[in-house]
Amino acid sequence: MEQEPVTGRVVALQANFCRVRLDRDGPGQQLELLCVRRTRLGKSGQQVHVGDQVSLDGIDWTAGRAAVSRLFPRSSRLLRPAVANCTRLLVVVALAQPEPDPVQITRFLLAAEATDLQVELVLSKIDLVPRPGLEAWLVRLKGWGYDPIGLSVATGEGLEALRQRLAEPGITVLCGPSGVGKSSLLNALIPALQLRVAAVSGRLQRGRHTTRHVELFALGPEALLADTPGFNRPDLPLDPSRLAALFPEMRQALRSGACRYRNCLHRGDPGCCVGTDWDRYPHYLQGLEELLATGGSGAGRRLPEQEVQAERPEVRLDRRQRQPSRRRLRQSEQEGLSPPSPTD
Ligand code: GDP
Ligand code: ZN
Repeated sequence: MEQEPVTGRVVALQANFCRVRLDRDGPGQQLELLCVRRTRLGKSGQQVHVGDQVSLDGIDWTAGRAAVSRLFPRSSRLLRPAVANCTRLLVVVALAQPEPDPVQITRFLLAAEATDLQVELVLSKIDLVPRPGLEAWLVRLKGWGYDPIGLSVATGEGLEALRQRLAEPGITVLCGPSGVGKSSLLNALIPALQLRVAAVSGRLQRGRHTTRHVELFALGPEALLADTPGFNRPDLPLDPSRLAALFPEMRQALRSGACRYRNCLHRGDPGCCVGTDWDRYPHYLQGLEELLATGGSGAGRRLPEQEVQAERPEVRLDRRQRQPSRRRLRQSEQEGLSPPSPTD
């Protein structure tokens, strides 16, 4: 009898092992196996990442052990945190402490949109503002093409709505400015994190840091959430002609109409179907002028062909890891995610 291969998702890396969450439970409802990584994955240059879809062999169900035999092609790869097959970025911004700043929110949204992943938006700390303030922001962000969820980790309001949204199949990574409540939110969504923090601080005393990899936690049958937030200081993408596509409300306008000139940069030009009468037009214009001033278009970064085929689209979140070589300068246009500030 032909046996179906056992497949699963890498949810954590630990030394030479990885934990694989099985696509289908093993005997006795076994959910996960601890797996060694076969050397030939390494030799062919393939490094296993959290989020990778793998097939397994050498399975010892009793001991809960196996080996990763094959890595499936990736749909995306974030660099920070290192997560393969991420499908969704959850941008978190606060309604207070820090005050919401439309320019900063827009920057984060643009950086998130530049990855080509699905973008979701959360307004945190709603317990700190009167209702009309929340309502006004919800309406405003809807006008930007988003369907934001307002929530408070302090009162628990909105958490269930977010849980439901994140339970849709896919892998989610949080991002947003410092202090908006990303860690608090992760702790609220993943109860196991609090237990881990408690265990670590008990054993190692407070203040000691343990380096650890990103880990994925299940929020639904096919839904995972990374326990580590991503970028917190976004940049604009480099190509001015790509900027419009990063504004959902502009995408909408460009879908239902066409500008007179094909290379229209939508700056109130004659025959422009986007126009200038929209909330974020000043932000668009400012971003565009910045990009034009820095001569952005020539620097569109394209990946070397092989890499593009192997893992597409490449999503780079950390510029520090990038060597400033000519090769790099040709890299993907989907750019604009910047390194963390040294002070964060
Ligand atoms: P991060 O930097 O984005 O990870 O933010 P943290 O999770 O560290 O939170 C920053 C501060 O905001 C902490 O003092 C939290 O206690 C506080 N905070 C987080 N969520 C909420 C909330 O829903 N309401 C209120 N009032 N404070 C919050
Ligand atoms: Zn136009």
